[in-house]
Amino acid sequence: MKKFLALLLALSLVFAMTACGSTSDDSAADADADAAAVESVEGQTFKVSTEPTFPPFEFVDEESGEITGFDIDLIKAIAEDQGFSVEVEQMGFDAIVGAVQTGVTDIGASGMSITEERLETVDFSDPYIDAGLAIAVKEDNSDITGEADLQGKTCAVQLGTTGATKAMELQEKGVLSDVKTFNTVDVVMNELKTGGVDCVINDLPVTQAYISKMGGIKVVGDTLVSDSYGFAVKKGNKALLDAINAGLENVKASGVYDELIAKYFE
Ligand code: GLN
Repeated sequence: MKKFLALLLALSLVFAMTACGSTSDDSAADADADAAAVESVEGQTFKVSTEPTFPPFEFVDEESGEITGFDIDLIKAIAEDQGFSVEVEQMGFDAIVGAVQTGVTDIGASGMSITEERLETVDFSDPYIDAGLAIAVKEDNSDITGEADLQGKTCAVQLGTTGATKAMELQEKGVLSDVKTFNTVDVVMNELKTGGVDCVINDLPVTQAYISKMGGIKVVGDTLVSDSYGFAVKKGNKALLDAINAGLENVKASGVYDELIAKYFE
């Protein structure tokens, strides 16, 4: 904020000088103004894309019909802190990285794990929360107690996720006999509950949220892969990335981050 005000002051000086008739360095002043335009996110509106079957990170509020959740409240708090606005839009999870990469959307906020593969095409903010993959089975299943029991079993996953990558690896190794992919996590969980597959590989906190909501399923074994979530932005969009990181630091320092943790996880 202070930096922005300083920049504004510097700019108005440049404009004042130009207005006073020093025509010789008009082009330099224009160049400065252009640089300032891309360097500041303040006052701008950014599209945020999310796949909202991922509670408590993103879900559709039953009463209002609006997309809400930890990620959504967090990016809104960051935006408020940094003086920009966001418009939240729903998108298939497997489309988000591509949409960020091509500029169709500005920010991916969707419980997105920071992975080496994704870092090749998009930039990520600093990590904002830790998570990891877990195996879930039906509550009455006693033969799968962890990864070692997956031989010949079938598994459901969400398309384009780290859970899907892990399941495909297990299938390629000849462990899982089949992997069924679905676009949304509610359908994945339903497939498990209705006996269409033996297991699900999905992010632990989200699976736990589905367990409390729908029952009939349980988590087994250890965390398969630990990771952290970040907000994805187009490669090289330093202004937006810096603003998100600065805002994240500020909302952590102000206690807003902890309030959101309490609201969604406790
Ligand atoms: N964290 C997982 C990933 O990044 C799953 C995200 C999701 O389903 N929204 O792939």
